[in-house]
Amino acid sequence: MIEYKKTVKQAKIRSPLKSFEEETITFEYRADPLTGRNTTIIKERSNYAGSFLNSDPQQLNALVEKTKATCPFCPESVGFKTPMFTSDFLAEGRIVSGEATVIPNLLGHAEQSILAILSKKHNLRLDEFTPKLLLDGFSGAMKYLQRLHEVDATVKFPVFAFNYLPPAGSSIFHPHMQVLVRDRPFYLTDLTLQKSKTYADTNGSSYWSDLTATEKEGERYLVGSGGVEWLVPFAPLRGMNEVQAVVSRKSSFMELGEAQWRGLAEGISKVLQFYHAQGYGSFNIVAMSGPMDEHLDYFDVNLRIISRPGIQQWCFTDSWAAPYLLWDGETVEEPEALAEKLRVFFKTT
Ligand SMILES: [Zn+2]
Repeated sequence: MIEYKKTVKQAKIRSPLKSFEEETITFEYRADPLTGRNTTIIKERSNYAGSFLNSDPQQLNALVEKTKATCPFCPESVGFKTPMFTSDFLAEGRIVSGEATVIPNLLGHAEQSILAILSKKHNLRLDEFTPKLLLDGFSGAMKYLQRLHEVDATVKFPVFAFNYLPPAGSSIFHPHMQVLVRDRPFYLTDLTLQKSKTYADTNGSSYWSDLTATEKEGERYLVGSGGVEWLVPFAPLRGMNEVQAVVSRKSSFMELGEAQWRGLAEGISKVLQFYHAQGYGSFNIVAMSGPMDEHLDYFDVNLRIISRPGIQQWCFTDSWAAPYLLWDGETVEEPEALAEKLRVFFKTT
């Protein structure tokens, strides 16, 4: 059974914004239903925090132009400025899938680390990430994973990671996603696998099936499409406009078919349309998979997407001490209020 635990605490101050009248501030501590990790919900502070998420159009345009001149991922450069796979791995050197090109990562983050360059355009607004463009990227990345699985089945824990624009950690402006694959899971994948196993052993059911069944009845649910359930998490991991997708009863990327990839691509595209409408321009996505060589009944492939700060002269970051060094979450808006706003975008076709 999914448990949603929360505790409400209050602080009182005399606010200079209200002629030093007494003001009560509410802090809600929520435990992640799987891991127990705390996220603090501070209601109605999103207008204040939102100003840090918008980009200065002049700064943004200047960076687009500056980075375009030397970009290795633009179509005229990709053929001679990007790495190629070794000939024993892939004779063609690079994987082309629709508009996407898949290449090894020159500055990798794992023993197997690749990039899928997603568009011919150097810069995309967030409402320009179409499902087709994302599907091309997923499809190209899967061709790589299938080849890797043939070559070395011990490297079996993949994640999709997407850092868009420098505030999200990307050193290259041009839209691209990453796939990192290791013989061992990343820490949070490992924790999620362990906690999911413990939940199944204790409850006799899958945490992920119970989660989506419970959320479907509630106010954080967004939509189900192609076996992919979209929702706003009860206790977001990082906080800023976080949305989660669960791919029902598929425990590894290798088990996903066209319908599931489409369900993910369409959902991501909707969330990015919402971010764009809010004035945001930068985001991160991580999708985690169980091991590629076996099916796990107790784990489902799942994905999280968050918005990141805008491009501004003042280099604000939302990776402050509490989330970065204390592993605590904080969000400036109730997840239920965010879901209400997002549902408008998920309803449009
Ligand atoms: Zn470019």
